[in-house]
Amino acid sequence: MSDTLFRTLGLIEPGDLVIYHGSIPSRHGLHLARPCGCVDCGRADYLGSTDVRYQLSDPFAEDPEALTLRCVRGQSITRSTANA
Ligand SMILES: [Zn+2]
Repeated sequence: MSDTLFRTLGLIEPGDLVIYHGSIPSRHGLHLARPCGCVDCGRADYLGSTDVRYQLSDPFAEDPEALTLRCVRGQSITRSTANA
């Protein structure tokens, strides 16, 4: 089994449900992923970075905006199989 192929198939698309398992243990779990569109990521894009970052929001939170995680690396999330 090819690790590279697995990563290709695991690409996150906007609106996907993902499992966050990054550096903030209290936020581990299910989130909705979108491409991060903040100023920092916009600048990194402009400079030619291929390191895609995501914005994660808690689909069950009363105030999802307040709990949004910014600039999350792809390696910190895994696409959930819940909607596959
Ligand atoms: Zn960002």
